[in-house]
Amino acid sequence: MAINTIIDEFKQVAANPKKQLLAYKAQGKKAIGVLPYYAPEELVYAADMVPFGIWGTNDKTISLAKEYCATFYCTIAQLALEMLLDGTMDELSGIITPVICDTLRPMSQNFRVAMDKKMAVIFLAHPQNRFDAAGKQFCIDQYTNVKKELEKISGKEITVDALANAIKVYNASRKARREFVKLANEHCDVITPTIRSAVLKASWFMLKDEYTKKLVELNKELAAMPVAKWNGVKVVVSGIIYDSPALLKALEDNHVAIAADDVAHETRAFRIDAPEGVDPMTALADQFANIDNDVLLYDAESAKNNRGDFVAKLCKDSGAQGLILFMQQFCDPEEMEYPYLKKALDKAGIPHIKIGVDQQMRDFGQAATAIQAFTESL
Ligand code: SF4
Repeated sequence: MAINTIIDEFKQVAANPKKQLLAYKAQGKKAIGVLPYYAPEELVYAADMVPFGIWGTNDKTISLAKEYCATFYCTIAQLALEMLLDGTMDELSGIITPVICDTLRPMSQNFRVAMDKKMAVIFLAHPQNRFDAAGKQFCIDQYTNVKKELEKISGKEITVDALANAIKVYNASRKARREFVKLANEHCDVITPTIRSAVLKASWFMLKDEYTKKLVELNKELAAMPVAKWNGVKVVVSGIIYDSPALLKALEDNHVAIAADDVAHETRAFRIDAPEGVDPMTALADQFANIDNDVLLYDAESAKNNRGDFVAKLCKDSGAQGLILFMQQFCDPEEMEYPYLKKALDKAGIPHIKIGVDQQMRDFGQAATAIQAFTESL
């Protein structure tokens, strides 16, 4: 298939998740909304249902969700609830609500009350101490509860074999996305920030076997092309999510290519695979335990600032000249981590800029000017 055809397919899915959801429903499939972060989507896939990412939206204004949310909750959480209240996500049969941050913890109860009889709300608490035996057992217990709730919705048991297969499918998808991110850097003349974002965003709305098949095809096409001679600048992007068309356009207008990312909605979600050939529930808990260098997860050695050094190294290894941090307004974990990231970047001599964003932003003039000034300084 021609490269533009594959890219267009990803773009269409990323731009219209609702259409994708309706298409799966028309096939007789049930779908489960998966809120951020680190829900074991493999369980949903193994239950023969569609895991459907819910990361807020750039296209709506918070209205109905105001009744349930404190004004200082981030817009991602509030707009996720808005989509569940205004009918956009009515085709879902349930949602999984992880509670990793101080916003998502109370929000999980808002979701429960707001959805009442509309759809199942499956609570998921990850362990704070994810490395030791007790933490892993806690994680397995939580995942077992999610599994039982999903079985009630799907009406069938999630077998060990089905889950082992789901892990294989997801590992293949994570591998393909890691490969794509590298190829996108090498071919940044073809894979613009908008295209890169659309390709990765589509993964949240497609069954992973279908998605991976297309992505492997795209990767093959890219690998066969000559490496780009790039005259613009290259940056690493960091933050929770930056899928706004206006922000992506501002990057493109200033000839900014993305060398790599440290973004929750993108690479942070597929850095680590689950072990294969072992008990699959243990494998999922192991996978969560093995995720590291993440602002949202407990770091027993935080004084060493490993995460800051990790991101600085990512900039150097990917050939980026600087880093753009898209800081979600009202996101405590990202804001609290920022001084440590700054310290590591300054120590490594990597210039950076922090730009405040949220999903209700409609005027991007200031952000575009900041990007222009930053890129001119590089
Ligand atoms: S953006 Fe920040 S505050 Fe909002 S859900 Fe994500 S981690 Fe929590």
